[in-house]
Amino acid sequence: MKKVYFSGLFLSLVISLSSCESMEQKVAKIHNDAFTIDTHVDTPYQLLDKDFDISISHPFANGGTCVDFPRMKEGGLDGIFFAAFTSQRERTDENILAARCKANELIDSTYAACHKHSNLAEVALSVEDGYRIEKEGKRAVFIGLENGFPIGKDILEVERYFNLGVRYITLCHTSNNDICDSSTDKNGAEFNGLSSFGEKVVPEMNDLGILIDVSHISDSSFFDVLKLSKTPVIASHSCARAVCNNPRNLTDEMLKALAKNGGVIQMCILDDYVKAPDTTTIAYRKELELRARYRNAGKMSKEEEEKLWGEWRQMHIDYPKDKPTVADAVDHIDHIVNLVGIEHVGIGTDFDGGGGLKDCADVSQMMNITKELVKRNYSEEDICKIWGGNFMRVFKDVETYAKSKKIAG
Ligand SMILES: [Zn+2]
Repeated sequence: MKKVYFSGLFLSLVISLSSCESMEQKVAKIHNDAFTIDTHVDTPYQLLDKDFDISISHPFANGGTCVDFPRMKEGGLDGIFFAAFTSQRERTDENILAARCKANELIDSTYAACHKHSNLAEVALSVEDGYRIEKEGKRAVFIGLENGFPIGKDILEVERYFNLGVRYITLCHTSNNDICDSSTDKNGAEFNGLSSFGEKVVPEMNDLGILIDVSHISDSSFFDVLKLSKTPVIASHSCARAVCNNPRNLTDEMLKALAKNGGVIQMCILDDYVKAPDTTTIAYRKELELRARYRNAGKMSKEEEEKLWGEWRQMHIDYPKDKPTVADAVDHIDHIVNLVGIEHVGIGTDFDGGGGLKDCADVSQMMNITKELVKRNYSEEDICKIWGGNFMRVFKDVETYAKSKKIAG
């Protein structure tokens, strides 16, 4: 009897181990077969630090960097959008020029990093480039411009950014600019949506083949863009407001309109957009204090701003946050899929810009998202759509429209 009992136990152990192994294998196979793209990281700022080497793997530490080429490979991430981000300052000619210089510097440093490590990565300018570079076993690095501030009111700048390789523009950031109202401007709406200049920017982006990114823009700006755009749009890094009530997230009404437009929302994994923060912690209070000071960043000198960023990084080391999990983030995907179907959701982490979860803290851990999707019975086909298929479809639509305009023109 004893022998039978033991062999039965052994057999069930073997079965459970092998089913466990097959789950891991299944996840890895789906993840590695898919074309995976993260549509928003702020890594170009790291490239400005001459001590940062993107070609070597950095072990993740609290307050440390989230993205480098070896960790992208480890996490099975094929494509990425590096954001050339400029913070919104007072809209003076001098500040606009300074923002242009900063954006140029970030774009140049992205090209320089890819040229220097051309065996690991390449700058991608099209959908075709993205798939080709992936097949060559390298990382495809696309460029996005986060905040249209450097455009100022000069429509020719839009084409200049296209020629520099920029393939999406996030129309604004945390404050209103000359293009549109932001979802988080402390003074509220200025244009009640797009400005009259913004109404010229949208068709110009359509004609050139630049994706319109509606993350950060106000709800009214969002609906103005949808009315005007001839192509589907993206939200490069946003979540669902019904799951987490944050103005940076999209309401159900917006998600339905986005789906009707054929566009895609790229789920962000920044903690406050994923789950409402616990307001009773010291970490929350400290962050609130610093955020209040950051609101004046537009008026700060470069040195003051750098000091503030240093304090921000240090604060997260001294008072680590209890971050949400991949399961919390995938709740947003579930909500969006239930509301508008599988065709309109993707992933844009905001790594190196505040993004990161307890169990997906850096780019090497991205397979955990696939694991959660498999656990929730998403099919391989669905997972491929989420990881890149949906975004690349929109990108292709935007390219096709621009080509048709060129032929017609
Ligand atoms: Zn952002």
